[in-house]
Amino acid sequence: KTFAEIDLIKPVQRALADEKYETPTPIQAQTIPAALDGKDVLGCAQTGTGKTAAFALPILNQLGKQNKKALRNRPQVLVLAPTRELAIQIGDSFTVYGKHLTLKQALVYGGVSQYNQVRSLNRGAHILVATPGRLLDLMNQGHIELDQLEMFVLDEADRMLDMGFLPDLKRIISKLPEKRQSLFFSATISPKIVELTQSLLRNPVSVNV
Ligand code: AMP
Repeated sequence: KTFAEIDLIKPVQRALADEKYETPTPIQAQTIPAALDGKDVLGCAQTGTGKTAAFALPILNQLGKQNKKALRNRPQVLVLAPTRELAIQIGDSFTVYGKHLTLKQALVYGGVSQYNQVRSLNRGAHILVATPGRLLDLMNQGHIELDQLEMFVLDEADRMLDMGFLPDLKRIISKLPEKRQSLFFSATISPKIVELTQSLLRNPVSVNV
């Protein structure tokens, strides 16, 4: 199956054509249709498999169809990544695949001043890409509300646990609206990961590449 045969909106198709993507990678071929169907996904995949587009494309598709206004401090989509480098990379991917849509994005990670991050949240963001520690800091200060959240992505979950983010993750997850779609990615599936998915996912479609 080619991208043209998957039911993606024109602006997303055009961005893929600009990037010269023709065929979905295996993780994309399995994840995108399930995510477009509104299902939760448990994806077991390493970096380099195309997993960023596997979650970014269905998210952009949904947001692009809705045409909603970006609300100050209230993102519709949250993507959590373990490191600042990965968060920046994910943000870049949303920018590339979303270039023919008029969606706003905010990026939030530690190790730098929060000033510009708070400013971009105040301007309104449909999509928030964040690392757990800084996200919690900004939530605790009242700069981020997750009450409008429709979609949640947890990327590189195993690395997050290795880095000791489980307590932070639990705090964040407890603030997510019950009614949401969750996409979960991990390179390895350990008993701790299974436990985390059980607290997070509802009847997920399992994708293994
Ligand atoms: P990721 O695993 O998300 O880090 O993606 C790995 C690389 O593959 C990135 O440089 C993407 O731009 C590229 N890529 C992702 N999906 C496709 C595709 N369907 N066709 C060609 N290249 C792709």
